[in-house]
Amino acid sequence: MRRAAVLGAERAAAAAPLLRAQLWGTAGHPMATIPPPQGLLRPLAVPQRLLLGPGPSNVPPRILAAGGQQLLGHMHPEMLQVMDEIKAGIQYAFQTRNRLTLAVSGTGHCAMEAALLNLLERGDTVLVAINGIWGQRAADIAGRLGAEVRELLKPPGEYFTLRDIQEGLARHKPSVLFITHGESSTGVLQPLEGLGELCHRHSCLLLVDAVASLGGAPILMDQQEIDVLYSGSQKVLSAPPGSAPISFSERAREKMLRRKTKPPSFYLDMGCLANYWGCDDKPRMYHHTAPINSFLSLREGLAMLAEMGLESSWDRHRANCTLLCQGLRELGLELFVKEEAARLPTITTVRVPEGYAWQEITAFLMKEHGLEIAGGLGPSVGKVLRIGLMGYNSTKDNVDRVLGALRDALQRCRRSRL
Ligand code: PMP
Repeated sequence: MRRAAVLGAERAAAAAPLLRAQLWGTAGHPMATIPPPQGLLRPLAVPQRLLLGPGPSNVPPRILAAGGQQLLGHMHPEMLQVMDEIKAGIQYAFQTRNRLTLAVSGTGHCAMEAALLNLLERGDTVLVAINGIWGQRAADIAGRLGAEVRELLKPPGEYFTLRDIQEGLARHKPSVLFITHGESSTGVLQPLEGLGELCHRHSCLLLVDAVASLGGAPILMDQQEIDVLYSGSQKVLSAPPGSAPISFSERAREKMLRRKTKPPSFYLDMGCLANYWGCDDKPRMYHHTAPINSFLSLREGLAMLAEMGLESSWDRHRANCTLLCQGLRELGLELFVKEEAARLPTITTVRVPEGYAWQEITAFLMKEHGLEIAGGLGPSVGKVLRIGLMGYNSTKDNVDRVLGALRDALQRCRRSRL
């Protein structure tokens, strides 16, 4: 056996120069055998579109320009200064003085995971309010973390009352309640008044998803006693997706400090991120390479919100949503959320009209009008169309454009035989 192995090795050694010549050719280095992809050899083509779905929104020139700047190093003092400005911008947008306030390097889901995996430990009980897809996703993530997940359910299109929550807290005794402020899959705005206080009376932390609502509807983190709040960059902030604001109250920070085990993600460990963002008393250290250009864009998105003022932004979103709802009714469409106050000012849902296929309507708007609206998501699939008017896109002109395009679609889309 050993003799055969030696012979094999000898033969392989003798064949090596031949093989090498075949692979290397005459160029003095190996030859790549997989050719460059044809698609990459053509110029990049990005069509112009009006993005009036549930996000992303169109990015204004000022924010595009910020993201197109030359790079800085992620630890350069100018970059750390930008991060400090982002932090102050988030504190303003969230209306909080929480020191542990930063942007995670990722989209809204990344912030959702960061919130849950830092707050929860295996065996902790979390109560998840589910009236659309975001509660479902949070329950999924919490389950993966080994938490005891309890669900509080409402049909899509409805919100939770204080009584619903109170019963859930008394029954399940969770250490964290997850709830979505702007349910973008159904178009519901969840009232938050009194919720923080209620949770704290039950020794529970309040975790709120405001990805689709921040800047479009009032949310006051400190006054409303919210313990963890997160959002995204590509909705009202009108920046590209890829960075997500998040903030933790002192109560939430204390729970994290009491952890018996490390958070199961290094990338999203809030202790490490807090240091990188200058939220502790230690010198700032490299944790990961920040997505520099995403942060430059986010800084500008937050700056534009600060210049406009939160109240004006809330008013503008509510006013344009009201105009849109009026116009949709005049077209004979039925709003999915019955109660006006419960309508999310950023994303409006209408029932798919009888006799139409929603895919035909969305495809027609895209093809004929270069305009995006979306169908439902999760539990609202097939039931609704979703129209987003967020940040830079929340204008009267866009209300007119989407209503005009929908009028056209209703006249010209083939009636479905379904
Ligand atoms: N929560 C809500 C309410 C959302 O609307 C979204 C995005 N549509 C997310 C979370 C997830 O954000 P992302 O797609 O940026 O990961």
